[in-house]
Amino acid sequence: MSTADDSVPCIGCGLVIVGGAAGCLTLYEATIALSGKFPTHIGLGRLAFDTYCVQHPAVYCISAKSLAAHLGGLCWALEYGGGDRGYERLRRSLDGRQVFPKPPLPAQRGTLTIADVAAGDDAARAGLIEAWAHSAWLAYADLQDWARERVAAAMKP
Ligand SMILES: [Zn+2]
Repeated sequence: MSTADDSVPCIGCGLVIVGGAAGCLTLYEATIALSGKFPTHIGLGRLAFDTYCVQHPAVYCISAKSLAAHLGGLCWALEYGGGDRGYERLRRSLDGRQVFPKPPLPAQRGTLTIADVAAGDDAARAGLIEAWAHSAWLAYADLQDWARERVAAAMKP
């Protein structure tokens, strides 16, 4: 049985939760991926996935390319409205060999975590996902131009 003493900070996002990073992933899965309401490849599900990934870069953003996919995805959603075709172009632009270096990551990755999204009811969930995404994007302020360059390169005709 778990007690409050089992709570430790998630190494990715800092959320203090039973099981740390593993508990954080379980909460994300229950709230988003396994909820059946947010398919991971489109819309809010994609926004949530990219947000979770940039908050947990040691697992999901190991390469410059994976960072570009997820931080670029956040940029595409928050600054360009997140149309499906743009995600597809971003994905295709990152196929094959990449020559851009991976920049240093921020140590703090957002004031909100998946726990803030999970705390709301279904009616509030969409707004909470967007707020969570904005908080991660803000935490990556130093890398926003880097992400914009990746998006711009992907959208070139
Ligand atoms: Zn976490």
